[in-house]
Amino acid sequence: MPVFSHVENYDHEQVVFCRNDRAGLRAIIAIHDTTLGPALGGCRMFPYPSEADALRDVLRLSRGMTYKAACANLNLGGGKAVILADPRSDKSEALFRAFGQYVDALGGRYITAEDSGTSVADMDLINAQTEHVCGVSAYAGGSGDPSPVTAWGVFHGIRAALDEVFGDPDPTGRTVAVQGVGNVGYHLVRYLSDAGAKTVVCDVDGGRLDRVRDEFGSTIVETNEIYDVNGDVFAPCAMGGVLNDDTIPRLKVPIIAGGANNVLDDMGRHGAMVRSREILYAPDYVINAGGLINVYAEIHKLPREKALRDAEGIYNTLKSIFVKARSKGITTAEAANHVAEDRIDAIGALSSFQPVRC
Ligand code: NAD
Repeated sequence: MPVFSHVENYDHEQVVFCRNDRAGLRAIIAIHDTTLGPALGGCRMFPYPSEADALRDVLRLSRGMTYKAACANLNLGGGKAVILADPRSDKSEALFRAFGQYVDALGGRYITAEDSGTSVADMDLINAQTEHVCGVSAYAGGSGDPSPVTAWGVFHGIRAALDEVFGDPDPTGRTVAVQGVGNVGYHLVRYLSDAGAKTVVCDVDGGRLDRVRDEFGSTIVETNEIYDVNGDVFAPCAMGGVLNDDTIPRLKVPIIAGGANNVLDDMGRHGAMVRSREILYAPDYVINAGGLINVYAEIHKLPREKALRDAEGIYNTLKSIFVKARSKGITTAEAANHVAEDRIDAIGALSSFQPVRC
């Protein structure tokens, strides 16, 4: 495949192809943009059907990280890595340490972390070769489970959306349909219940449903019924691509705001479709940035309380995105991209500034 044209399309700074036959490693590290700081992004392990698929994935995901960090006001750039292997059968100490050597060779330009297919234990192995890794275990100095911080950011993002739509951010008495009550969804239901909201939930895991019903009195619906809930907010907290041609027309809520990544099946088309139905969409990479904020705190050895406080800032970030979208007549997803690009452009322009000494 034409590698350079691909890289140029996404405007990447650097792409590193990593190979160590003895360790069974084939990986790609993509550094999209380091204007704001070192490129941070998880390491995904997946048996890609082809090398082209792996390259496309790492280029797309690393660019997404640039935008996420920029909107979250973090001093981080965007990067990502993929290991072309099956996490169920191909993991070994040698493989992760070989990958760690490549990360280390980048001298801190790229910081790796957990992603789908990799775990805290894998990060500990990478950590044997490089300090440029986060999401390591708590005993190794890591920050532990990021999902309470992610959910805290989503909770404040929901408050911002309520304020935009109803002129009042208070969740008391509001009904929120939460799709998926795993790590993020569980904590979100907890915060919402504490704030006096009613929650309607679904999940494919019965044990997780029992837990939120028993602890918070949530109403349970079938997985396919969650789109039909008559309420105030739809909060996707399970998987991506759930908002599409079939599901968007069914929604009976004025707000979409949840923790899941890539919820719009097609960002452009479905973003416009949501807007034409006058449903306010809180862009996923903005509202779910609490996990990244948590990792940033880990890198800088800041306490969890600081990460939680910073995640509350998602409220103001989203408010300014809603205002921009409204005033320019664009989708909230487009407005979020503009906010990220404006910050990167402004900081990027500084590097060419040379103070004149008299
Ligand atoms: P998780 O696996 O703990 O939870 C997902 C839940 O969704 C599980 O309980 C699962 O059973 C349920 N689920 C799966 N298929 C479903 C379906 N068809 N209908 C309803 N429920 C279904 O994952 P998580 O860590 O809570 O992450 C949830 C989402 O948030 C993911 O998209 C993830 O990428 C995103 N996210 C998570 C974090 C974080 O800090 N964990 C940070 C940013 C983004």
